Parts: sequence; structure tokens; C-alpha cells
Amino acid sequence: MGLRLFFHCSDPRDRADLETKINAVLLAPGEKINRIAVYGGPIVLAHPIVFREEANTMLRQINFAIENFYPEEIVLVGHDCGFYSTVLSLAKLTLVDKKRDIIQIRKTLAHRHPQQPIKALFDVTQGEQVQFEHFAA
Ligand SMILES: [Zn+2]
Repeated sequence: MGLRLFFHCSDPRDRADLETKINAVLLAPGEKINRIAVYGGPIVLAHPIVFREEANTMLRQINFAIENFYPEEIVLVGHDCGFYSTVLSLAKLTLVDKKRDIIQIRKTLAHRHPQQPIKALFDVTQGEQVQFEHFAA
């Protein structure tokens, strides 16, 4: 089994900054990981009609990772993402909708890759205490 694959938004602003948050609380000391980090992270997979090309690209990226690197686990990390506002019809989505998206993405990928362990998390950090909500499979 290979390194875990984390798939998340790459927004570097302090409030978002999932890379730093993941490193701080989700990785074992010294753990190396595979990472897919793009603006919006996995959310395009929850809206494959609106983001058809982006979703296809991400599915190819994930296929490539699974076929070549055998990730021990795929960890989808959602957050209150600004990328939703790039599409007017998605700009109004609530936090509950955004959490539902990350759960749905996990289901979609689990269906496509039934042998692959996949976890879905959502950044619920308030203030200084970094916290992720974990969703049961
Ligand atoms: Zn984001």
C-alpha cells in the first residue's frame, strides 16, 4: 500500500489554508502523502454537470493515483469553499449543502472504486483550534 492521497482546495488564505491544517492535525509525524490540491478541491465532483470538464479531469487524476500509487486511503477534505461562487447557481449553497457535497463525493468515488478506502472530512475550525468533522462511510 502506498502513501495516503489527500484531495483538497488549495486556497492559501489563513482562514482556509487546508494544507497547513492537514499537516497540523491529520498527518502522523513525518508522514509523506500524495496530494491533489486545486482551487475548489473535490467539489467539482459533486457538480459534474456544471463542472463537467473539471470533474473529468479530477476523476482521471484519481484514477492515475489509484493505478500507480495504490494509496492506502483517499482523504477528501471539504471546507466552506469560495470556489462555489465561480458559478452563480452554486454561490448560495449553505454550509450544510457543502458538507452534503463532500459526503456525496465520497459515495460517488466509493462506487467507482469499491476496493479503495475513502474518507470524507470537512474543516470546521473555529478560531485557533483546527478541527475536522469526520463523516462515517
Ligand atoms: Zn476552497
